Amino acid sequence: MREHEPIGAWLRSSRSQRRVGPGAICASCGKESRPYALIFGRDPPCCYRCDRIAQGHLPYEDNHVFGKRNSDLMIRYPINDHRAVFNVKQLDWTPETLENVNGDPLLEAMARFHGLDDNVVHMLADCIAFVPKIKHVQELLVAIYGPDWLPGLEAAAKHASGKPVAKEPRVRRTSRVVLPAKGD
Ligand SMILES: [Zn+2]
Repeated sequence: MREHEPIGAWLRSSRSQRRVGPGAICASCGKESRPYALIFGRDPPCCYRCDRIAQGHLPYEDNHVFGKRNSDLMIRYPINDHRAVFNVKQLDWTPETLENVNGDPLLEAMARFHGLDDNVVHMLADCIAFVPKIKHVQELLVAIYGPDWLPGLEAAAKHASGKPVAKEPRVRRTSRVVLPAKGD
């Protein structure tokens, strides 16, 4: 189960911010400001990613998607996301679900749903954050070749390479409804 304790979450968040200092931001990359991604007690502030790189290690960590006691399944994430997103989300799981000391299959099932929820929400946010870049490129293509930019771009590519360019595969945008046969 997941505990819906907004006050507890707020207290944890404000406590972690106090531990790294108000408005703290990593002095190495100048980008990371999530308190749980900053190493407590470091002055100047430093994030886990920059610390790993400085020590010659890759800046990734394996996330136990469903909790270590429930499954061995792991996904490798950037270390700052693992610390500031997934570890924090799992703080909302009840200890009995996360630790599942008796191997209760129903608690394990609940942990799987919570883990799936945490990961899908994070991946969706990551995709949505990428949309402005796609929009920027689409607007540039429209500005150069007009609203129907694909044929213009294909012609430009053909002209630049001197080779024929493969056309975009045509996808039939029709839907098919399968009706049950008589007698079903
Ligand atoms: Zn950093």
